[in-house]
Amino acid sequence: MKFFGCTLACLLVLNGACKVSAGGIRPALSVHDTSLYPQIFSVVTSRDVASTYGSSWDIQHAGSRRLREEDDNLVQLGVVVHNEIEAAHFEHLETSGVLSYEAVENEGNAQRLLQGINQELSCYRTVQETFDAVDELAAQYSDFVRVETIGESWRKQNGDGGFDIKIMVLSAPTSDPAVNKVDMMVVAGHHSRELPPPEAVMKWATLLLEGFGKDADLTWILERTNIHIVPIANPDGRQIVQENLDWMYRKNAHPFGCENGTALEGVDLNRQYPMMWGNDTGSSGDPCSTAFRGPAPLSEPESNAVFTYASQLFADDMKKGSIEEAEAKVDEACPEDATGIFIDVHSYGDFVYFPFGFEDRMAPNHRSLLTMSSKLAHPGNYSLWGPGQDGFLYFVSGDATDATYGINCVASFGFEIGSQFYADCFELESSIAPKLHESLLYAAKSAISPYTIPLGPDVLTISVDTTTASSAQLTVAVSDAALIVDHAKFDGNLSQAIAQVRVFVDEHPYDNDGVEGLLMDAQDGSFDEEDEVATYSLDTSELMVGRHVLYFQATDSEGYAGPVAAVFLDVDDYASSNVGSPLGVSKIGLGDDFAADGLAFVQASSSPSMNCGLLMVCATAIAGAIASLMV
Ligand SMILES: [Zn+2]
Repeated sequence: MKFFGCTLACLLVLNGACKVSAGGIRPALSVHDTSLYPQIFSVVTSRDVASTYGSSWDIQHAGSRRLREEDDNLVQLGVVVHNEIEAAHFEHLETSGVLSYEAVENEGNAQRLLQGINQELSCYRTVQETFDAVDELAAQYSDFVRVETIGESWRKQNGDGGFDIKIMVLSAPTSDPAVNKVDMMVVAGHHSRELPPPEAVMKWATLLLEGFGKDADLTWILERTNIHIVPIANPDGRQIVQENLDWMYRKNAHPFGCENGTALEGVDLNRQYPMMWGNDTGSSGDPCSTAFRGPAPLSEPESNAVFTYASQLFADDMKKGSIEEAEAKVDEACPEDATGIFIDVHSYGDFVYFPFGFEDRMAPNHRSLLTMSSKLAHPGNYSLWGPGQDGFLYFVSGDATDATYGINCVASFGFEIGSQFYADCFELESSIAPKLHESLLYAAKSAISPYTIPLGPDVLTISVDTTTASSAQLTVAVSDAALIVDHAKFDGNLSQAIAQVRVFVDEHPYDNDGVEGLLMDAQDGSFDEEDEVATYSLDTSELMVGRHVLYFQATDSEGYAGPVAAVFLDVDDYASSNVGSPLGVSKIGLGDDFAADGLAFVQASSSPSMNCGLLMVCATAIAGAIASLMV
């Protein structure tokens, strides 16, 4: 979480407003609500502390909890907290550094905690294991993965162990001059106690690489996007967490003399970025604070490495100038045709956040940022933490996304994934990672024009019916509204009627302005609603034997074209000798191994495709953002 659990902080309310502590501002939500209690806290502490204080707590469960073998002395307690006074007691003990605690809001987690089912955290790799995995991907997919060092951690700079800060760049080799590659940068692990983000982005990278050539969308994304992933921006902090799970360590390893203990040391790397750095609303000058911003913007090697890389990556002509110039131009819109996207992944709470965060202030590109966030939020039904939204939790000044958007004009978004910092492996693998995958695929599809593509309609389903000789009946459902979460608040319309839907055969619509594709027909006779079904009878008699790609894209009545969705169409001449057809049986492009990864696979054609037999053409799609809507 960008700030230590507001939900928790808000349990510690006094006089109806969240208290302001050394941790900086606590948001003024109206949560002075006795109905919050009883509330279950997950408390992690040593056995000694538990035996000293435990008799006065309402402990429902006690068990060991460990990330590594050496954590045997830790216990995890499920404690029922009955009122604010008890909650304040836990806050005091945490401030004293003897325990960590968090409110358990998720009902399933609370039940598991009370039933004594320990969280399984063995799926979380250490820093070194993660960086080794990066190198292994680079070795396995040598044409697709480049690994670079973008800086050193604070400990490494100071000769005290530490790590290089690594980035891996994923991109498919292509020699096609029509392909204009764009950049997407994904950062995880600013905050070390947030266990899920580094694992989730590593899983995403693996999914992309494994899916190349098997899934049409993943293939074109890698062919047209350079995806830059920083899996652990704060490796020192992550190492501290590995060694001291109970500290819930959040910041980097650079000590500034916090008198309340080592566990509260360090600089909050996500209060380090230069846009509106230094505000006391949204960051703190107190070294003990979880939101300690450090002595100067980008004073820490980790945040400096991330921002320097991002600033060099994205086009100069988009930038607003110096930090001072950018802050003066805070209400000046970034060009709508800007390319590239920046994503920062945190835990927890199931939010998408977007600029601005330094105050509840709409950015000049608000409509685009809100619409993109809303579509990123759709797969996980995340709340929206952005200006004017109900989910705006608290101010954050000096975070990465305000800076990459506000200074560099890169469309920038953040995620808060999962239900807690130490989400267990089951939650990571069954929920957190799959939801994030879908959101990141949507972001990747939009990276070529992130201020316009989310405004356009989405292709929800693709059906390819191959039962007719010499043609394929294409049917797609499109919508300008369906992927906008219904809790998005906007003073105006975020969706319009569909104006047209096109299919492009073997020509990607992003590649070349001259490509026009084939206009599909409205199934109901006219395109005049936000939701439409489009059809087309594709003459397949002219298609060469081999693999083809069908790309679909819809445009709304304002002229905004949405993201592309694609399926493979494999043609061979097998059937021609059997059924007298000019076309043959297609080969299904996706194997069982890939499906076993826990991904939703979508079959483009509902009836014939998976059992092609002597039918003519088959097509399958894995559908990323569209999968959950498939029927
Ligand atoms: Zn965070």
